[in-house]
Amino acid sequence: MMSTIDQQNLKAIVSDRAALIEHLKYADTAPLLMVLVHLGGDPAWLDRIAPHIKGPWSFHDETPDALRAELREAVADVLADYAATGRPLPTELPMDLLPRMLRACTGQEVPPEYYPMVGEEMDLAGTDPKTVHWRATPDPTRLAAFQVLVVGAGFSGVGMGIKLKEAGIPFVIIEKNEDVGGTWYENTYPGIGVDTANHFYSYSFDNNNDWDHFFAHGDEIEAYIQRNAERHALRDQIRFSEEVLTLRWDEPSLLWHAEIRRKKDDSTYTMTANAVVSAVGMLNRPKVPPLKGLESFAGPKFHTARWDHSVDYKGKRVGMIGTGASGMQVGPAIQPFVKNLTIFQRSPHWAMLNPLYFENVSDAKKWVLNHIPFYTKWFRFQLFWSSSDTFHHNLRVDPNWPDQAHSLNAANAEVRKALEAHIASEVGHDPELIRKATPDYPPYGKRMLRDNHWYRMLTRDNVDLVTEQIDHVEPEGVVTSDGTLHPCDMLVLATGFETRRMLWPMQVEGRGGATILERWGDEDPRAHLGITVPEFPNFFLIYGPNTNLAHGGSAVFHSECQVRYIMQGLRELIETGQAALEVMPEPFWDYQERVDAAHRQLVWSHPGVTSWYKNGAGRVHAASPWRLVDYRNMTAVFDPAEYEFTAVKVPA
Ligand code: NAP
Repeated sequence: MMSTIDQQNLKAIVSDRAALIEHLKYADTAPLLMVLVHLGGDPAWLDRIAPHIKGPWSFHDETPDALRAELREAVADVLADYAATGRPLPTELPMDLLPRMLRACTGQEVPPEYYPMVGEEMDLAGTDPKTVHWRATPDPTRLAAFQVLVVGAGFSGVGMGIKLKEAGIPFVIIEKNEDVGGTWYENTYPGIGVDTANHFYSYSFDNNNDWDHFFAHGDEIEAYIQRNAERHALRDQIRFSEEVLTLRWDEPSLLWHAEIRRKKDDSTYTMTANAVVSAVGMLNRPKVPPLKGLESFAGPKFHTARWDHSVDYKGKRVGMIGTGASGMQVGPAIQPFVKNLTIFQRSPHWAMLNPLYFENVSDAKKWVLNHIPFYTKWFRFQLFWSSSDTFHHNLRVDPNWPDQAHSLNAANAEVRKALEAHIASEVGHDPELIRKATPDYPPYGKRMLRDNHWYRMLTRDNVDLVTEQIDHVEPEGVVTSDGTLHPCDMLVLATGFETRRMLWPMQVEGRGGATILERWGDEDPRAHLGITVPEFPNFFLIYGPNTNLAHGGSAVFHSECQVRYIMQGLRELIETGQAALEVMPEPFWDYQERVDAAHRQLVWSHPGVTSWYKNGAGRVHAASPWRLVDYRNMTAVFDPAEYEFTAVKVPA
């Protein structure tokens, strides 16, 4: 049912038709068409406009201006009709028209298996369908005595806290930093931003219509997470500047015992919890490369995730080691200001252009997102689809494909051709630079990056791309294996994170007395659905093993899948009055085999690729092999049959 405020809002919008039409000029065609067909119900509009929508991004829209003008008038008519009649806006997706609508919206076929996920993501009724509701009113004494310890207050930890709070489950979040934000709090390097369109890279229950960029900068995302922590009054439950050192499962009490360090005075204390949720992520502990002589370097040196803003890079000779997502953002941001930028590249990444990457969201567009009913939902869906599963089939090895070293299949080879053409168009006059900047391995083998003018930057006079490998570091600079000393005043280590030793340096000791790192053998983390581990009762991971999205999608989407699953696990414990749940070895190993079998067919296992997705033995431990729809379906319903439950011990 439409609220009074919505009705007033609608009346205000339609009261000045000329202004409304003017605003609608800034709407994208596809989401506006969806609004019209959803509210007006006339499918004829789909036939007229669909042929002009060539793909899921707004820049794929080729609708003629005259037709767009007609669309605007029709939308204004429909909104005026709702305002005049006071009819409620329909909050259900029109299932009879949905296939045609989704096809028109994306320029692609959206198979029916996606409909439940689309409905959830769009949440037209604003009821947050991912919320886990109690099936029976929980025993208030049991609920009040239950305590969840969440480690980390980044995107996932805050999302977890919001859902625990809504359910009334007591919890504490321990955060080592002074504020919320996690990776977006810690990474402040020049050029920091997100590669996923952030109207989608955001909580599904909090669509933000006021992003300033289609691909937000770091501080904007940090502020968004902080806003959510405030809106849901989480701060009182977060203990800042404290770090969980150890977690030990105590079998007699069936509780986790956490040893926590207060950073302000280095003192420690212990707390107990019925359940622990690790929301520390994979990309949190900087990896400092073991380069000979690094400590002898005379100038400032720091990791991208520990950017030292007291150091002025302007006019300096900067050496940057690493060309992953972080390095690729830092380079173009500092190059115009430095005397010289020497980039030490071990292996190149592929990078794709997206025209929206550099664009601001205009105030007019924000108005449309904020005021036109459901526009923001369709806009989000369009982005969701454009960056989700559409590429997954390109990443599967075709055993009959002749050129396995460079591409995996015909579609992947096409992507490679387009990416090579892009590199050539940016640095075309320099075949040597093209050779250095072009990866040997197939597209998507490492994380696909966004070209933020990286290639253009490589052509600048003050930039050197060094592909000779680093031999050692001296006080004056970096010496490569050909004996050349590359003089540097400062060094930036864009060398990534400790992704193999997941959860490190936290010590997590499970039921059998072994730590999780001992179980995982230091670089082979495994978890059922990336979330639970045998012998670690009531211990849940968000963004755990094999959950990093490498083909597309948004990390927030995955995190919400995991939060829903964990909430169902906790509900099972609390409602049934059981003390502990632990995933059984059979479903755990069955899942591992399915993950490994899937990965054997996919690009991330490619022998020509080294990446943080893979461990030293070549097993892909970080990347998810699944399409979003698969992972959503696997985690949507917690299956108690996969778990062993331990009853509460009754004192003798
Ligand atoms: P990364 O992708 O792991 O890149 C690390 C870079 O350092 C690679 O180029 C690597 O070379 C190089 N390197 C590592 N050790 C080295 C050594 N001993 N000698 C020489 N080179 C060395 O790390 P990242 O760039 O920080 O990105 C990590 C992840 O964070 C990304 O994949 C992404 O998921 C996320 N991220 C996202 C964004 C975004 O959304 N825009 C931005 C930053 C980070 P090799 O490739 O040869 O190993």
